[in-house]
Formats: sequence, structure tokens, C-alpha cells
Amino acid sequence: MKKYKIALIKGDGIGPEIIDEAVKVLDAVASCSDFSFSYEEALMGGCAYDITGNPLPQETINIALSSDAVLFGAIGGEKWDALPREMRPESGLLRFRKELGVYANLRPAVVYDELINASSLKASVVKGVDLMVVRELIGGIYFGEPKGRTADKGWNTMVYTRDEIVRIAHQAFKIAMQRSKRVCSVDKANVLDVSQLWRDTVIEVAKEYPEVELSHMYVDNAAMQLIRDPRQFDVMLTGNIFGDILSDEASMLSGSIGLLPSASVGAKIGVYEPIHGSAPDIAGQGIANPIATIASASMMLRYGLDEIASANKIDDAIKRALSEGYRTQDLAQFDAKEVCSTSEMGSIIANYIVR
Ligand code: NAD
Repeated sequence: MKKYKIALIKGDGIGPEIIDEAVKVLDAVASCSDFSFSYEEALMGGCAYDITGNPLPQETINIALSSDAVLFGAIGGEKWDALPREMRPESGLLRFRKELGVYANLRPAVVYDELINASSLKASVVKGVDLMVVRELIGGIYFGEPKGRTADKGWNTMVYTRDEIVRIAHQAFKIAMQRSKRVCSVDKANVLDVSQLWRDTVIEVAKEYPEVELSHMYVDNAAMQLIRDPRQFDVMLTGNIFGDILSDEASMLSGSIGLLPSASVGAKIGVYEPIHGSAPDIAGQGIANPIATIASASMMLRYGLDEIASANKIDDAIKRALSEGYRTQDLAQFDAKEVCSTSEMGSIIANYIVR
């Protein structure tokens, strides 16, 4: 029997509550599959700082690197906001991604029929939306040199090498092959030289995926099209800063931050986490929505462990819980038949899988 070792980083705020529910669901899936999980917990964020004086202890990196995947909750909170930048929980997370070499951020945006009214857009526009932003995560303008500032001037550099573009493009095309085989590459090739290289390189990589239909869109138009007609997109391939903005925009199509998962993958270990933060305002109350984290566990099975049938089981169970009218507090106003706690939602989803 296959055994997967999963590093659990619960983090701060609602992190521990939502990770516990994802583990419940993973155990349910394992109980009816030919694999099992072992878990090892590691500290990151404010809780790590409080115990070790470091938001990202070396031991956490070691545990992650010796695992098959990392399931991550959320970090941060007001308590640690006044610390020097390098000691803040968020710095720990950025360093962690860099250490693991996760260069691709996958952010799906799915609009569930049952929650169509949660979107701020008209139901007729968002019904059936199911897209994935594949964002380059460790290059581009956030990391490019030279960068700096003086009292009256500031500068950053958007730089991509051909190799960086090739590897993220392969990710996007591979994911498109598992979906509806369309990639829209987003750039600003009418203005930026770096975008011209981006576009030429993506066209070259596309030749290895003849079944995938490739289109290109300027980033300003993409921002507009996401609101005008989001169903036209399947996989959106972007650089770091464009993807940062577009993935947040896309996530709001679904209307609820508590539903959306993400994956950060690279050559080594992937990190799977909800897109929301540690929600200190509701921590410890048992009302957080665990679905984004449970859906992140599904992404871990799909993209990290290649257990696609099990990932489908989780996704189906989430849809079923929603279609039967179960809602956590954050979605109570959208056709709830029963409002349930964090832990009840986890159990409902886990039970659908086992049954
Ligand atoms: P947040 O995402 O934590 O919360 C925004 C709002 O959404 C809050 O009202 C919160 O209650 C609600 N919310 C978030 N997740 C929810 C869930 N699962 N169920 C129900 N409601 C949910 O963003 P914020 O308030 O801006 O940040 C709080 C802390 O989280 C900050 O310290 C921030 O730096 C950190 N943060 C961490 C990450 C991460 O760990 N990846 C990401 C974003 C923010």
C-alpha cells in the first residue's frame, strides 16, 4: 500500500481549525483507496515566532522537504504586525515558497451553481465559470534586479529568462490537457520587451501540445474580459504581477473567499493552501468555512500525488454538501437549508466520501 507523508502547517488564526477538517476528509478518502497518509506537523508564522523566535524555523523547511506534499492553513495576525519585516509571519511564507522552489501558482475560480447569487456579477454572466489562473510565482518584477529607491525615485525591473517562461508554460499546457485544452497567455507584448519574449516562448512551447488551443491577450483586456465574459477562459497563463492581480479578480467571480483553494508547485514539493488569510476576527469560534482548505487537499491529490480519482471524490462531495443546502456562517444568506459549524461541514463532506 502506498503511503504519502504530508507536512501539515496549520499556522495562525483559523489555520488549525480548517486544517483539521481537511485531514478528516483526507482520511476518509484514504479509507476507501489503496493508499494511506502519515502526517507531520510543522510550525510557521506567528505561532512559530512565539515558540522559536523565527517565523520559519529551519526544521519546518526540513520537514517539508522530506514530505510528499505540504498542506498549509494560514498565517498572520495583528499580534505580529509590529515586528520587524523579516520576523513577520508573511516574510516566513515568502521565504518558504522560495526555499521549496515553487514557481507555479495555480488558482482555480469555480462558480458553484448553488452559490451563484454570492457573486457580485449577474448569474447569467458567471453561471458555469470554471477557470484556472497559472501564475509564475518566483520571478518577474517582484524579484528582478536592479531595484531600489532614493528619496525621489523608485525602480523595479520586470525580467524573465527564456527558461523561466518555458517551465511555467509547460505547467499551463499540462494542466490544460487535464481540462478543456485551452490556454490564454496574458502579456503586454504591445509595450514590454519582456512580454515579447514571453509570447514568442509560449508559442514555441505550444508546439509540443498540438491538442491545446492557444490564444494571447493583453493584460488590460484580460482584466476587462474576466468581468465581461469569464466563461471564455479555461487556463490563463500569466507572469507574476499580472497573475497576482488577475487571480484576485477571478476569485471574486465566485463571491466567497472561504471556497477557493490554491496550489504552488515546482520541481520538488508542492504547497496546497486556501487563498484566504488567517481570519483572526473569527478564529476559535468554529464558524470558519473549511471548504477552501478541503478543496486545497483535493488539489494536492490531483496535482501533487496524481490521485485523480480521489481528488474527484472530494470535489464531488463538496458540490453535494453545497447542493444539499449545507452552509457555514459566511454563506448562510445564500439558500442555506442548514447552517453548520466548521467541524460539521468537514464531517458532512467526509461522510459523503465514505458512503
Ligand atoms: P483574511 O482572508 O484572513 O480575512 C478577510 C475576511 O474574510 C475576514 O472577515 C474573514 O473573517 C473572512 N474569511 C477569511 N477566510 C474565511 C473562511 N475560511 N471562512 C469564513 N470567513 C473567512 O484576510 P485579512 O483579514 O486581510 O488578513 C488576516 C491575516 O491573514 C493578516 O495577518 C494577513 O497578513 C494574513 N494573510 C495570510 C495569508 C496566508 O497565510 N496565505 C493570506 C492572506 C492574508
